Amino acid sequence: MPQTLPASLRERLRRDEPLWRHTTFRIGGPADLFLAVENEEELIAAVRWAREQSLPYLLLGGGSNVLVADEGVRGLVIANRIHGWRQGRGARPCAPTGRFRISNFEFPSCLLHPASCVPLGRLARAAIKLGWAGLEWAVGIPGTVGGAIVGNAGAHGGCVADNLVAVRVLDEDGKVREVPAAELGFGYRRSVFKKQSTRDEGRAVILSAQFVLRAGDREELEARAAENLAWRRRTQPRGLSAGSVFRNPPGDSAGRLIEAVGLKGACRGGAQISEKHANFIVNRGGATASDVLALIDLARERVWQRFGLTLEPEIEVVGL
Ligand SMILES: Cc1cc2nc3c(=O)[nH]c(=O)nc-3n(C[C@H](O)[C@H](O)[C@H](O)COP(=O)(O)OP(=O)(O)OC[C@H]3O[C@@H](n4cnc5c(N)ncnc54)[C@H](O)[C@@H]3O)c2cc1C
Repeated sequence: MPQTLPASLRERLRRDEPLWRHTTFRIGGPADLFLAVENEEELIAAVRWAREQSLPYLLLGGGSNVLVADEGVRGLVIANRIHGWRQGRGARPCAPTGRFRISNFEFPSCLLHPASCVPLGRLARAAIKLGWAGLEWAVGIPGTVGGAIVGNAGAHGGCVADNLVAVRVLDEDGKVREVPAAELGFGYRRSVFKKQSTRDEGRAVILSAQFVLRAGDREELEARAAENLAWRRRTQPRGLSAGSVFRNPPGDSAGRLIEAVGLKGACRGGAQISEKHANFIVNRGGATASDVLALIDLARERVWQRFGLTLEPEIEVVGL
């Protein structure tokens, strides 16, 4: 069926929206077309319209894992602004919903149903406050639930895949369906969505998620989250960044390798390899995507020359 963009969305469609405004790096050129969607129906209508028009589209959550090219992004950028926790069928969010079984242990559990644009860190904090365990690792991670699922975000030995039960997606065929977590191909900072995430026109869009959490001691959970936050403050730079630039090679850390080749503090234009953590590149003011890419190339080249290892980017470069 031919799709037209509803009038309410057409009115909000912007041209040449600067994308630096929508990323934690504060870097990036304009989107040809830009639309912020406030609810699922709007998101679905926007994606269906783009597909119908054969218009490339890119979904942005918190923009905390992307580097947007200086040339910007062709086609439509959809900014996801769908907040709120959805209620599952017959289950009240945060109410015990039965027993959760892992190996031979059973314990009280709850199901959380966040929309895809709920900030992951905020969801984790809310769960802790209610005494539900499993997301303490996520406190302090920027970005949205949707973006976190795409990259299987993780820290402190935990990751999204540990507690995710299922996602609701608008699939490649334009159908809304639920997909169990076991089918999402999770690995270290990977999922089936990540594989598709080079501006592939047909890519699936995550609408909402379902996490299972177990009962925990609120004070203990709060203490663990506070420790995790303190570690972040101690070890990571506070400036504008997109988090870790490279994936850690097996058994090693990208930060250690970059530091070992003497690149801590190296600058290109307004971008710098952080003096605090060499796997972060920070925008010290006025950095361009080209500056960041020059540092990425430099780090990859030096690490390859010295260690024979190819560093793989964790951040996604979009618009190139
Ligand atoms: C200071 C800092 C610290 C960080 N620390 C960590 C850390 O400890 N661990 C970690 O794993 N990451 C970390 N990150 C990286 C980042 O926060 C995570 O990867 C985050 O989960 C990305 O979410 P986002 O909403 O910002 O995604 P975005 O950057 O907006 O998008 C990332 C990708 O996901 C796609 N996408 C977003 N939403 C959807 C959706 N609903 N459906 C389909 N595709 C979607 C986008 O198109 C894009 O391809 C850090 C970043 C910063 C800036």
